[in-house]
Amino acid sequence: MKVTVVGAGLAGCEAALQLAVLGIEVDLYEMRPAKMTPAHTTGLPAELVCSNSLRSDLPHNAPGLLKEELRRCGSFLMKAADNCRVPAGGALAVDRDKFSRAVQEKLNNQRLITMKEEEVTEIPQGKVIIAAGPLASGSLADSISELTGSGSLYFYDAIAPVVDFESINMDRAFFQNRYETDGDADYLNCPFTEEEYYNFVRELKLGNRVSTRDFEKEIHFQGCMPVEAIADSGDMSLAFGPMKPVGLIDPRTGIRSFAVVQLRMENKAGTAWNLVGFQTKLTYPEQKRIFRMIPGLEKAEFIRLGSMHRNTFINSPALLDCRMRLRTDERIMFAGQITGVEGYIESIASGFLAGLLMAGLQVLPPADTALGAILRYPTETVTDDYQPSNINYGLFPPPAKKTRGGRRARREAQAERALNSLGNWLAGLSGFSFQ
Ligand SMILES: Cc1cc2nc3c(=O)[nH]c(=O)nc-3n(C[C@H](O)[C@H](O)[C@H](O)COP(=O)(O)OP(=O)(O)OC[C@H]3O[C@@H](n4cnc5c(N)ncnc54)[C@H](O)[C@@H]3O)c2cc1C
Repeated sequence: MKVTVVGAGLAGCEAALQLAVLGIEVDLYEMRPAKMTPAHTTGLPAELVCSNSLRSDLPHNAPGLLKEELRRCGSFLMKAADNCRVPAGGALAVDRDKFSRAVQEKLNNQRLITMKEEEVTEIPQGKVIIAAGPLASGSLADSISELTGSGSLYFYDAIAPVVDFESINMDRAFFQNRYETDGDADYLNCPFTEEEYYNFVRELKLGNRVSTRDFEKEIHFQGCMPVEAIADSGDMSLAFGPMKPVGLIDPRTGIRSFAVVQLRMENKAGTAWNLVGFQTKLTYPEQKRIFRMIPGLEKAEFIRLGSMHRNTFINSPALLDCRMRLRTDERIMFAGQITGVEGYIESIASGFLAGLLMAGLQVLPPADTALGAILRYPTETVTDDYQPSNINYGLFPPPAKKTRGGRRARREAQAERALNSLGNWLAGLSGFSFQ
């Protein structure tokens, strides 16, 4: 068997290396340096386009757990990252140039991998892994769109923050659907007094924002505005927009509030809730400060913070099967950020899974592992508004039993469960030689 991998980024390099070590020939296509993306600056493989941090390395944080799982599974890029580590406290940060060169050396040393420096404009014949990333070239994006149908490929993400249900103050927030006072409610509402609303709007307008790159400007069209940009357009814009209170009566006071922030369930377990319409370009510290001004969210623990940026991704839950293959054409697999997993480490994990699945892995990683979450988020999420996600504990099944000792103890128990499950899974696999 021979596999074509499109894109020598984080996912593509990991997938190619896993395939090669399992004895499968790979043609790895990369369009850089002849054709650059708007964010990459070198012709090197696995370039980290922005921060040099792969985030937390502590296992009670989900990104830390994912890294530990990748280490135990023999991920090549994880090993390269560990070898190129620079001091960064509890995070794993790397020397980005050394990291890319270490990956390049691994690729060069693999006789089964042939590097092809050219842009792929059409979906290749035969078995293929498309790992062209969030900045996939235009012609390839057109071919993907043609293959998957209109409306199945998106060009930016608009992510609203997600909070841990247990950190919501239910003395202020209340369950209710708009215009319905009976029955099971799908929404949680955080009601504002007039004074609270104006204070909140003032801080939104003053909050520090991430600057918008030229290639991202197109996403700020009406209908998908960052929440702070809506506040800029007029003090009452939010109260008539995403924070409108109509049809919502606070059961404790019997009155309609001046404004309301609504939260919608993010996962089946109901442990994670997202702030509806709160896509934002505020910096992370500012999001925590300002969104904790929302009545009921004073002590909110953020599972995920909001963002908006250029990001090409497919509607994976509608298009991919449980093995990351196109349902309509099983020879085509997608991997990395183009599937809607967000982040460096998530893309490496997705590439790792794609390599193994393409090589014929039968038993999928268990759902309570971080690798299981990375596989299932794009393939099993039930939603009509699919948006990319980082790894977070909201994507895991909730703990089987209540853990005493608060959030940290709960996360530690989940991490321990994940590593046990991973160990059992690895022990049960045969025919795959993990490094
Ligand atoms: C501007 C920006 C900043 C980001 N910052 C961070 C951050 O700080 N931290 C973080 O965790 N995540 C960040 N991300 C998100 C994400 O983690 C990275 O984009 C990550 O590199 C995605 O990995 P990937 O393998 O899916 O894609 P990439 O690493 O982008 O790899 C895709 C590769 O495919 C190549 N390619 C594209 N089209 C073609 C084609 N037609 N033919 C051949 N080759 C092609 C590209 O040149 C690229 O090398 C950022 C994303 C963007 C866009």
